[in-house]
Amino acid sequence: LTPKHPVIPASFATLWQHDGPYNDFSRWSRRFFGGRVQKLSVDTGGTCPHRQNGRGDGGCAFCRVDAFVPAYCTPDASLLQQIEAGSIFFGRKYPDLSFLVFFQAYSNGGNIVEQAKLALLRPGVVGVVIAMRSDVVDAKLAVELGNLAEQSFVLVELGLQSGNDKSLRFMNRGHTVQAVYDACDLLAREGVRSAVHLIMGLPGESLDEMLGHARIVNELPVNQLKIHHLQVLEGTAFATVFRENPALFMNWDAQAYAGFCADFLTRLRPDLVIQRFANESPQDLVLHPRWDGIKNFELSRLVEAELWHRHAFQGSVWNGQGA
Ligand code: SF4
Repeated sequence: LTPKHPVIPASFATLWQHDGPYNDFSRWSRRFFGGRVQKLSVDTGGTCPHRQNGRGDGGCAFCRVDAFVPAYCTPDASLLQQIEAGSIFFGRKYPDLSFLVFFQAYSNGGNIVEQAKLALLRPGVVGVVIAMRSDVVDAKLAVELGNLAEQSFVLVELGLQSGNDKSLRFMNRGHTVQAVYDACDLLAREGVRSAVHLIMGLPGESLDEMLGHARIVNELPVNQLKIHHLQVLEGTAFATVFRENPALFMNWDAQAYAGFCADFLTRLRPDLVIQRFANESPQDLVLHPRWDGIKNFELSRLVEAELWHRHAFQGSVWNGQGA
């Protein structure tokens, strides 16, 4: 008889401390922080070094910053006012929440350590998450973040986006895969936790190429991973490419994407914490794919069901090194 669920190896179950099929952020964070935590986005009025001063020629081809900054978060308000507004917004549903302040908009650098220290002073804030381009991370910043990480939870999120330099050039990313390796190494050496983001469904990437990104993620000294499906947004360079040549883009539905994510997870190191699978841009901005505004929690359920259905789990075909 085939068991209903696969037997998760004892070493994985001990690592995750649950018998689910993957190492999800929600369960990991509750265990790590001893309760429910919520990422709370803030916008400190930073800018994108990739767009500034004519550099970057319009920025990354997929990017539209207003698509991922929540309404409660505005640089017109001070950092502490934004944290206050966010905690009221989320606290209505879960009064016992703790918060990870998420410096999400654009790419942070410059005075980010001072801003992070200020955020950490507020009661209820248990850590900071900082989105950053890999080419902003230098030895000095890594040391400063390392000092902060000795006292508080600090997670730096870097956009890898693709494991192919060809795709990074096509999306006008302005850095190479090697730059992400270098940034992750600098952070790891200073004891700073890091996460990388990957976009699945980039124009011209085959399923095999996308699955191959698992090898790079496994090699990087990172702790967490965020997987997004590419949403082609109105007003971006990819919107123009899509209108001219839609065949370049994956034409999958949410179920097929969930199946792909399940395959991808089987190739990953079991210690990697998986933050999410979906982009949730406002529907009126999404040109492709149109999945009726599916939410991350719904996609996560589909991925989990796919894993159970296949009798598979995160790391089930991982070979101990690359994928
Ligand atoms: S994705 Fe980040 S680096 Fe690229 S243009 Fe947008 S804010 Fe700048």
